[in-house]
Amino acid sequence: LLEASGVSKVFGKLTALDGAALTVGENEFHGLIGPNGSGKSTLMKCVAGAEVPTTGKVSFINTDITAFTPTERARAGMSLKFQITSVLPTLTLYDNILLALQAQCSLIDLVFSRTRRALHEQVMTMLTQFRLADRAHDAAATLSHGQQQWLEIAMALAGKPRLLLLDEPTGGMSLEERRVTGELLQPIKQHCSLVIVEHDLDFIRDICDRLTVLDQGKVLASGTVAEIQSNKSVQEIYLRRA
Ligand code: ATP
Ligand code: MG
Repeated sequence: LLEASGVSKVFGKLTALDGAALTVGENEFHGLIGPNGSGKSTLMKCVAGAEVPTTGKVSFINTDITAFTPTERARAGMSLKFQITSVLPTLTLYDNILLALQAQCSLIDLVFSRTRRALHEQVMTMLTQFRLADRAHDAAATLSHGQQQWLEIAMALAGKPRLLLLDEPTGGMSLEERRVTGELLQPIKQHCSLVIVEHDLDFIRDICDRLTVLDQGKVLASGTVAEIQSNKSVQEIYLRRA
């Protein structure tokens, strides 16, 4: 589904990424891990088009998208939940989801009431799926931090992406909220692949099929969770941190 190769990113004198690669299959949950500053967010941004790589190639659904803008990538089926929130706090949860869905419809679609009814059902389905239906008519600002993250993930899924990119979605969440996040993400595997950056290794082990480990801008290892867990160089960087 996704194949990024030879991705480098230089910021002035700093080489944030140095020939990194990332390969993600259909319906695969892929974890991107590594120490602070190892280039995880930069690699995500290069994939999503939010940063232009200095060198490298990104292909998505058998198309070279290296020169695509973020909007063109979104149209091709890629969705990124930005660390900066896309939620409008004074609007209700219902209206936030509705806006995200409407952005995917044409004006012509919207004038047909059938589409409007379908939209209402889609909004309620998504809110139910993310356990927020009872809060549908509350302002988004009244949600807990964890619930806001869930609302954002729901919004990122509005365009029915083939690939969802999440950069530290469980940051600031309680253990219980993390556990629920893992549960909420499972069903999307039926229609979507996931690349997720996480510092919580237990969380990532539980939900991911494959992992890529970055260290100082380079891929240290990539493979199944079992392969990564038994990899000596990966164990070393985590021992170094402990
Ligand atoms: P963290 O786990 O702390 O989120 P990360 O693995 O996501 O770290 P990046 O944010 O990708 O790391 O940063 C990699 C390196 O590139 C860091 O040294 C960072 O300071 C640097 N960097 C990232 N973005 C920029 C930028 N826009 N301008 C200059 N340097 C940057
Ligand atoms: Mg980061």
